[in-house]
Amino acid sequence: MKILIPIKRVVDYNVKVRVKSDGSGVDTTNVKMSMNPFDEIAVEEAVRLKEKGVATEIVAVSCGVAACQETLRTALALGADRAILIETDVELQPLAVAKLLAALAAEEKPELMILGKQAIDDDANQTGQMLAALLDWPQAAFASKVDIAAGVATVKREVDGGTETVEMKLPAIVTTDLRLNEPRYATLPNIMKAKKKPLTTTTPAALNVDVAPRLTTLKVVEPPKRKGGGKVADVKELVAKLRTEAKVIT
Ligand code: AMP
Repeated sequence: MKILIPIKRVVDYNVKVRVKSDGSGVDTTNVKMSMNPFDEIAVEEAVRLKEKGVATEIVAVSCGVAACQETLRTALALGADRAILIETDVELQPLAVAKLLAALAAEEKPELMILGKQAIDDDANQTGQMLAALLDWPQAAFASKVDIAAGVATVKREVDGGTETVEMKLPAIVTTDLRLNEPRYATLPNIMKAKKKPLTTTTPAALNVDVAPRLTTLKVVEPPKRKGGGKVADVKELVAKLRTEAKVIT
């Protein structure tokens, strides 16, 4: 079974994001970029399926600028067998990514695609769902457990107030939730080995996909600054402030 893992290069989760002074977006100059954390979980799940003998090949794919190669090398160091970069400088929105992945799936014919449930930069939570619709494949989003046997995926999903277990025939789409697994770290020997694994590049034009943005960002603003706290002398003052300033009691 071949598994395709779409991986997004995003601003590292430890970085405090800064908005550009003209409000047109987020400043990414000299900012540390990493693999989207939910995609690390997707890679880990695929590697575990391979270790169990369920999967035979793991292909990591990223859509974006040339620097995404770095993120793909990380996926290779974590256990992917080969990688594909769909290279473009256009800022990609989820629908464009879903179209690119659908076109690639038609060529690669994977039986399973595992995506992150959302990218931590745009927080869209759309690509997996759009991809399932474009391919007309079943989907299980927000997975916390995945079992595969006899061409059927049994997936436990996180839903409001609990979990739900669904069964779907392969080929299928899964998106990862936090509880699915704990990703491993890449070891130094594996980082070295990853340098020799195949990484090929293609383009949206070669896949015949129009990636022009459909949405326009009007303005990006920082959240309001938190006001500092204060100390009260006694309960009487606290109650008075709750009544007159916070207006949460009458
Ligand atoms: P989103 O719908 O943007 O929140 O992203 C959900 C998931 O789609 C991510 O966790 C990735 O698995 C995949 N994805 C989104 N954008 C890209 C991209 N540019 N390249 C590869 N995969 C992507």
